[in-house]
Amino acid sequence: MADEHYDAIVIGTSQGGRLLPAELAKAGHKVALVERGQLGGVCVNRGCTPTKTMVASARLAYQARRAVEFGVRTGPVSVDLAAVRERKQAMVAGARQNFASRLTPDGPELIEGEAHFTGPKTVEIDLSDGGTRQVSAPAIVIDAGTRPRPLELAGAGDVTVLDSTSIMELDEVPEHLIVLGGGYIGLEFGQMFRRFGSEVTIIEMGSRLVQREDTEISSAVQELLINEGITLRLNARCLRVSGDAGSIIAHVDCEQDAPSIEGSHLLLAVGRQPNTDDLGLDAAGVSRDDRGYIVVNDQLETNVPGIWALGDCNGRGAFTHTAYNDFEIVASNLLEGTSRRISDRISAYALFIDPPLARRPHRNGGTGSRAPDPGRETAHETRGKSDRKRRDERIDEDCR
Ligand SMILES: Cc1cc2nc3c(=O)[nH]c(=O)nc-3n(C[C@H](O)[C@H](O)[C@H](O)COP(=O)(O)OP(=O)(O)OC[C@H]3O[C@@H](n4cnc5c(N)ncnc54)[C@H](O)[C@@H]3O)c2cc1C
Repeated sequence: MADEHYDAIVIGTSQGGRLLPAELAKAGHKVALVERGQLGGVCVNRGCTPTKTMVASARLAYQARRAVEFGVRTGPVSVDLAAVRERKQAMVAGARQNFASRLTPDGPELIEGEAHFTGPKTVEIDLSDGGTRQVSAPAIVIDAGTRPRPLELAGAGDVTVLDSTSIMELDEVPEHLIVLGGGYIGLEFGQMFRRFGSEVTIIEMGSRLVQREDTEISSAVQELLINEGITLRLNARCLRVSGDAGSIIAHVDCEQDAPSIEGSHLLLAVGRQPNTDDLGLDAAGVSRDDRGYIVVNDQLETNVPGIWALGDCNGRGAFTHTAYNDFEIVASNLLEGTSRRISDRISAYALFIDPPLARRPHRNGGTGSRAPDPGRETAHETRGKSDRKRRDERIDEDCR
C-alpha cells in the first residue's frame, strides 16, 4: 500500500524525463521525479557532454600536429590526459548544476533513490540516504536509459576492461588501445585516443565498419581512420582475452593477419543494454521484448495503460534528440490532447567521428541502404567527407 500519492511519477532524469516533470508541474500536477544516479542521466554525465568535450581536445591535438602543413609552427604536441579529464569534468559539473538549478520548489519533487514497481500504479523507492518510500500515481513515466553491455568472453573476468564510462577517467594516454567493436561508440573513442597519441587497433567481427550504412559510407569511414594511423582488424571475432594491465591480449578468429593482438588497454564497445531488469516491471505487468527493451505503442505507452516509456529504454532511438522527441510526443499528448506518434518522426542520427557523419534514414522506416524506391525520400545525407582536401577546407574554415 502506497503512503504518498502523486498525479505522476517519472523515473530517470535524462533527456526524456527531465523536462516532462516540469511541464506536468507547470500544468498544476503533483509530480515525483526519481533519480538513482546523477542528475541529467547518461547524456550529461557519461555520454554526449563528456565525449564531445574530449573530442574537441582530440581535434585540437590533431590540428596542432598538422599545423605546419598550414604554415604554422607549434612545436611538439603532447596531450595531458589528466587535464583533458579535468576540463571534461568541469563541463559535466556545469551541465549538471544547470539542470539542478532548474528544479524549483514549485516544480516536481526530486526524490533521490532507486525506483521499482510493486504494482501497476505503485512504486517503491530505495532512498539514496537510506530508508524507503512507497509512492503511487495514475500516470508513471519510465526514462531509465541503458548501460554498457558487458563482455561475455573467456578470460574477461581476469583482465581490466574499460567501457565508455571508465575510459574517460584515465589520466594517462594508453600506449596501445584495443577497441572491441567497430560501431558508433568504438569509432568515436578509437579516433579520439589515436589523436591523443595512442596506437589504436579496432577489432570488428563484421566485414566492414558501421554496417548499418551503405558500403561506400563504410569505405569512406574506414579510409579516414586508416589515414589517421588506426589499425582495423575486420572479419575478426574476438574469442577470448588474456593478460592484464599494460599487456592485454585479444585472441581472434580470423582468416587474415595475426590471431592475437596485444595492447596496453582494452575498450569494450559492443553495445548497450536497457536498465529494465531491476525495475520490477513484472510486478506492474509491463512487457519487454527479448532484448529487454520496454515495448511501447506508437504514442510511447506500454501495454499497461497509464505507464509510458521514453528514451533509450524503449528501443526506439538511442540518441539524445530521439529521447527528447519522445518527451515532446508524450507531453503534447498528455497536456494538449494531441495524438502525436513516433511513426511520424524522421530519426536522424549521427556518428561523432571527425568529420561527423549525419544520416537521415528513409522517412517510412528502415535505416537500410539505397533500395531503389522512387516513392521514398533520399536514403541518406552525409556530412562526412573522407577526402583530405575537404578536411583541409574544414580546418581552414575553423581557423578563420
Ligand atoms: C559514450 C556515449 C556518447 C554519446 N554521445 C551522444 C551524442 O553525442 N549525441 C547524442 O544524441 N547521443 C549520444 N549518446 C546517447 C545519449 O546519451 C542517450 O541517447 C541519452 O542519454 C538517452 O537518454 P534517456 O532519456 O534514455 O536516459 P539516460 O540518459 O540513459 O538516463 C536514464 C536515467 O535513469 C536513471 N535510472 C535508471 N533506472 C532507475 C531507477 N530504477 N530508479 C531511478 N532512476 C533510474 C539513471 O540513473 C539515469 O540517470 C551517447 C551515449 C554514450 C554512451
